[in-house]
Amino acid sequence: MLRSGDKMAGRSAAEIKCVKCKKVYECNVIDHIDLSQDRELAKNLKSGKANRVQCPKCKKVQYLDRSIVINFEPENLIVVFDPAAKKKTVREEHERDYKSVIAFNEILEEVGEETDFKIISKLDQLKTLVTDYMKVHE
Ligand SMILES: [Zn+2]
Repeated sequence: MLRSGDKMAGRSAAEIKCVKCKKVYECNVIDHIDLSQDRELAKNLKSGKANRVQCPKCKKVQYLDRSIVINFEPENLIVVFDPAAKKKTVREEHERDYKSVIAFNEILEEVGEETDFKIISKLDQLKTLVTDYMKVHE
């Protein structure tokens, strides 16, 4: 999961409730981005608009406040961006998740030791990280 060979962003299906007409619909949401592979998404990330969905009934566009795992390869940095991570309990949950992933086997454990893991809840902070990354790896 940490270094998946995926060339595209990792996506999963989610149920969204339209804020306008309250219709519940299914859509593909992004939960993992590899910055070295996906420049277009990096731009959307910076504006906080990575997860854009549109209601099929009333066409209302929404941007979702979901957590996204961002891989800053080739730098050894993994960031979980989650607007809800202002809460300590949410942060602790992400930390536990990460630890359980790298404890899965010895290879991942080695990767984990070399990799910096950050949990970010503020968009400004994420913006700075992505901007710096783009400058270095243009
Ligand atoms: Zn709607």
